[in-house]
Amino acid sequence: MARLELDALSKRYGDFHAVREVSLDVADGEFLVLLGPSGCGKTTTLRMIAGFVTPSGGAIRIGGGDVTALPPWKRNSGLVFQSYALFPHLTVAQNVAFGLEMRKLRRDEIAARVAEALRLVRLGHLSERLPRQLSGGQQQRVALARALAIRPDVLLLDEPLSNLDAKLREEVRVEIRELQRQLGLTTVMVTHDQEEALTVADRLVVMSEGEVRQIGTQRDLYERPADRFVAGFVGRSTFLEGSVDGAGRFVTSGGLGLRCAPGARPGRAVMALRPERMALGAAPLGLENDLPGTVEFVSYLGAALDLRVRLSDTDRVTVQLANRQDGKVPEVGERVHVGWSADAGRIFPPDDAAAA
Ligand code: ATP
Repeated sequence: MARLELDALSKRYGDFHAVREVSLDVADGEFLVLLGPSGCGKTTTLRMIAGFVTPSGGAIRIGGGDVTALPPWKRNSGLVFQSYALFPHLTVAQNVAFGLEMRKLRRDEIAARVAEALRLVRLGHLSERLPRQLSGGQQQRVALARALAIRPDVLLLDEPLSNLDAKLREEVRVEIRELQRQLGLTTVMVTHDQEEALTVADRLVVMSEGEVRQIGTQRDLYERPADRFVAGFVGRSTFLEGSVDGAGRFVTSGGLGLRCAPGARPGRAVMALRPERMALGAAPLGLENDLPGTVEFVSYLGAALDLRVRLSDTDRVTVQLANRQDGKVPEVGERVHVGWSADAGRIFPPDDAAAA
């Protein structure tokens, strides 16, 4: 168990910056998730921590000691891959023992640690099986046991659940989280699955194009996104293009004048709206922003309904409504009123580099 610090960690491949000056401070026992779209540099960051990729700049400290120049096996980090990477000809127990033998531990110590690690992932009864005689979820638990057996200071998980089907993913991620808490292991996990990230993390790091966009708890990222990219990546947002006028009003490109929270800087901007923070009704709603519109599209999602509403020729918003038994479902073409409070609309600068 240890604190993990990254200090302006960078990786360049030729002229290409895969990771740009990433600085993170992961507390002892914390579960940190690196989240971001494909190619944003998550895996490269994790592999630099593990020692499999050499940084172009910056430093990595585990427990206060600089490990930047150390080979993987001297860092005492346990890495679990997406592809399990089990040896097919070795039994479950032999797979878990492998890293311990490499470290030249005594035989009885190895046997004790293998038994403990398999007990932790509830696979003690399958220790003599070969990987091909196991399900995907069981194989992933063997890979986890292998990482735990070395009693790592830092546990590193690289999309560990992406080969599992949806139901199993949910089960295994809860198991991993419980085990991590029980052992108090400092953990960094990489995923591009938002729900997975939100479920397990103490804190999340949102990355884009090799850079950290925001670090925070689930609530921080959702309620106070730092920029347009985070507002669109964590949870859903509807974006209205336009500009903030001298009176602090947001005027959309379609000419709608909207009230927004005070303090927005005049100039071109976008307003981000959360679909579930908007209200919809047959008559005016009495909210600070209250606009007539026409329902263009209705998605029936079961627990919720998504409605796409046209507010002007160029302005459309998505409104999410809870699907109540007594509620009438608005129909396409119906005239409705959409409303939201001034502070529900977050204003960001336009043309954010990663807004696409
Ligand atoms: P994914 O979710 O798809 O795994 P990621 O966020 O983990 O994506 P990385 O694997 O860290 O992304 O890659 C970051 C960028 O660095 C990508 O654009 C990738 O093409 C590039 N990259 C990674 N490894 C190399 C390499 N060995 N040589 C050149 N470019 C590389």
